[in-house]
Amino acid sequence: MTVPVDVRDLLRHPGAARTVAIDEPVEGLVTELVRVPGDQPIHADLLFESVMEGILVSGPITVTLSVDCARCLKSLRSPFQVDVQELFVSGAGDLDDEYPIADDEVDLEPMIRDAVLLNVPFSPLCRPECLGLCERCGGDRNLEECRCEPEIDDRWAGLSRLSFPDGSRATGSAGPLGP
Ligand SMILES: [Zn+2]
Ligand SMILES: [Zn+2]
Repeated sequence: MTVPVDVRDLLRHPGAARTVAIDEPVEGLVTELVRVPGDQPIHADLLFESVMEGILVSGPITVTLSVDCARCLKSLRSPFQVDVQELFVSGAGDLDDEYPIADDEVDLEPMIRDAVLLNVPFSPLCRPECLGLCERCGGDRNLEECRCEPEIDDRWAGLSRLSFPDGSRATGSAGPLGP
């Protein structure tokens, strides 16, 4: 799919500028934990400026993300905005930093795709203090579904087998171990 914008009016007029409003869905914006729902349009208010090298496109892109919390896997929707500033030039290829101008048109879809996918949170959280799921029972600790006892750290497990000369054994709740 493409999001084409005709830039014929800008191309041969360095210094010319105009704004372009985008308001349409872009399919396939998905990472492991984040996706832009197919029914959610992308909003963008972009400034197109004719510069020596080509067309400079800048402005905010706003989307509604559907996010799975990286700790508790709860799904939620949250707004997301990223600011772009990208250069479109004639003859740009896949390996160039710039995006191409072809037939007096630019296609904004690859720029929108890159801007959103490279900037959405890699490890999103439903809230900063999310307690996540218990690794053993799978219960949601936010909802107090987990009743597991705290696990004894393996590095200390050996201590509970230590014997002392008087025959007592060290345990987690033993009294003072002083002389
Ligand atoms: Zn969470
Ligand atoms: Zn548990």
